[in-house]
Amino acid sequence: MTGRWPSWNVFLELTDLLSCPQCGPAHGLVLLVRESVEGRVRSGWLGCPNCRRDFPVEDGVVDLRLGPESRAAELQPLSDDELALKIVALSGLAQERGILIVGERLGHAAERIAELAPELEVVFVGSKLERVTEGQGVSRILSDAQLPFAEFRVRAMAIAPGGDPELVSAAARRVAPGGRLLLFDVHPEDREAARETGLTVVAEGEGIAVAKRDLDPVFRAR
Ligand SMILES: [Zn+2]
Repeated sequence: MTGRWPSWNVFLELTDLLSCPQCGPAHGLVLLVRESVEGRVRSGWLGCPNCRRDFPVEDGVVDLRLGPESRAAELQPLSDDELALKIVALSGLAQERGILIVGERLGHAAERIAELAPELEVVFVGSKLERVTEGQGVSRILSDAQLPFAEFRVRAMAIAPGGDPELVSAAARRVAPGGRLLLFDVHPEDREAARETGLTVVAEGEGIAVAKRDLDPVFRAR
């Protein structure tokens, strides 16, 4: 192979967080790299040791969709000029190295987030590729199943549920102790779902809520 691949391939360390969309969050995926550059995967496969299904990584995009027809997202992308700035500020990761996951309706802010916080790896997860902008430090995952990530491992995730408590519960279960779930276009039932899943809502206003998972007392005592 000659030449340089674009820098928007998939972040290698991300694969530790991924889980099989068919078998659920307890089942991780094994990565087989075909082409990579500077710790980023350009192409390969993600395999589930449980159901033996393979998912492709092509042109730097992870495709974890289960069906040929992806379920179309019903809600429109969230319109907010300061969206990227708000996500970075509320994530608590502005100065830190880490992975920040952004959902379907926020994907258009991904590239700007990565520019504002160059140490962050921004991971888009959604059903349509046109909902995310390509950019350095942005990984893209296509998924029609609910959030293909391991539980209690994600440090920061931003979604816009718009009245989808089921999505909020699933997202909240992914948040690590000390981690945050940012909710945009949040409805009362969304906030309630975050609380019921063990998060504490630490700030809210203007259609935004920040929910946090407390550090486990055992973990904190160490
Ligand atoms: Zn599986």
